[in-house]
Amino acid sequence: MSNNFDTKKIHSGYQPQKHNYSATVPIYQNVAFDLHDTERADKIARGEEPDAFMYSRVNNPTVDVFEKRIAELDGGVGAVAVSSGMAAITYAILNTAEGGGRIIAPLDIYGAALDEFRTLLPKFGINFDFVDDINDFENIERLIKPDTKAIYAESVSNPITNVADVTKIAELAHSHNIPLIIDNTFPTPYLFNPIKHGADIVVYSSTKGISGHGNVVSGLIVDGGQFDWKKGKFPQFYENEITLKKKGRKDFSFAAVYGKEAYLQHLRTKYLRLMGGVLSPFSAYLDLLGLETISERIGKEVATSLKIAHFLEENEHVERVFNSGLLNTPQEELVKKYFTKGIGTIFSFKLKGNMKNVTELLNNVKVFTYLPNVGDNRSLIVNPSRVTHREIPENERQKQEILDNLIRLSIGLEDSSDLIADLEQAINKAFEE
Ligand SMILES: *Cc1c(COP(=O)(O)O)cnc(C)c1O
Repeated sequence: MSNNFDTKKIHSGYQPQKHNYSATVPIYQNVAFDLHDTERADKIARGEEPDAFMYSRVNNPTVDVFEKRIAELDGGVGAVAVSSGMAAITYAILNTAEGGGRIIAPLDIYGAALDEFRTLLPKFGINFDFVDDINDFENIERLIKPDTKAIYAESVSNPITNVADVTKIAELAHSHNIPLIIDNTFPTPYLFNPIKHGADIVVYSSTKGISGHGNVVSGLIVDGGQFDWKKGKFPQFYENEITLKKKGRKDFSFAAVYGKEAYLQHLRTKYLRLMGGVLSPFSAYLDLLGLETISERIGKEVATSLKIAHFLEENEHVERVFNSGLLNTPQEELVKKYFTKGIGTIFSFKLKGNMKNVTELLNNVKVFTYLPNVGDNRSLIVNPSRVTHREIPENERQKQEILDNLIRLSIGLEDSSDLIADLEQAINKAFEE
């Protein structure tokens, strides 16, 4: 029997009988675990005791529940939780393109990810081929070279909510023996499951909608377990790994020992264990607590977002609303295909005005909070060109519609008519003579 989403979000990955029958997931704040005897210690080290714990930088029972729960909700073979969404992106890229290579990505991705791809990872031999439109398959295919290691995209882009055609991009990637990595932070596993549509690796900033309360920085990498990592292109999974050595085992590579979980176990052993961007048990506890109400929160927030989007569309001072959930975009078919429960809680709009009007609007909101985060229970407002998308060069911001008159909203759980009234009075003040 396989449970549905709302049952899994409460129960998956947790067996109370293994935790003194504690009804909710306990916080294991300890660093290390008693090995008991040398034979057991050796087995744990060789990965033969999948349910055993040794040291909390590598795994921890509280964090483990969070990882298993998200993996089940997303249809993956497993997940690794890390200290932030950026750590998740960094480890996923390094684990895929270890030793160097190229990755194809669109320009309209999360600002810090773009900065990392553009200015930092090339210094480690990983270079990026950027595209304006991730659904321009001909252009992508032209860019695939012998040393291309992956395609990277966001399922829903920030802040103008463009949708990636995940199934088509995955087919294209697979026909060239490369995986598709999707940042699914904006939809969360509640609105979209990229693995079920062909993606191979999914990364999350659970700082956002998964935890939902604006009180924990955290991230995850989920492995679909279906990708065929060819030996020539991805030698890291076929190298013998000293910690997996045992008597009589000739091939002690991650591929030989872990099969479908080779990618994930390599990431845990080589990146989490050695680079150390671990999620704390208390943070995992907050993530689990938030996750229990994800459907109720995001369901209401999506409904409120659409009401606000409709209000803005009718407002005389608003030039354009960017919310693919309104189905008034060229992407209508993609939205209907992939986002049956809504596009999300984050969208943006352009004022018929300039920086001065935007400044006045921001300084006059009373219910919305002005800050650079998304996916909180509180409704948030920000001006991307000055805050969240600063690192993007001006000419590219223009192509992506991120001009000085663009405003991004992240809708929370407040009363929808209060939110609309707040925007209305702030817009009116912004255009007072
Ligand atoms: C916030 C965010 C990140 C980075 O996450 P942190 O937890 O802040 O490190 C990555 N991708 C997207 C789409 C985000 O919104």
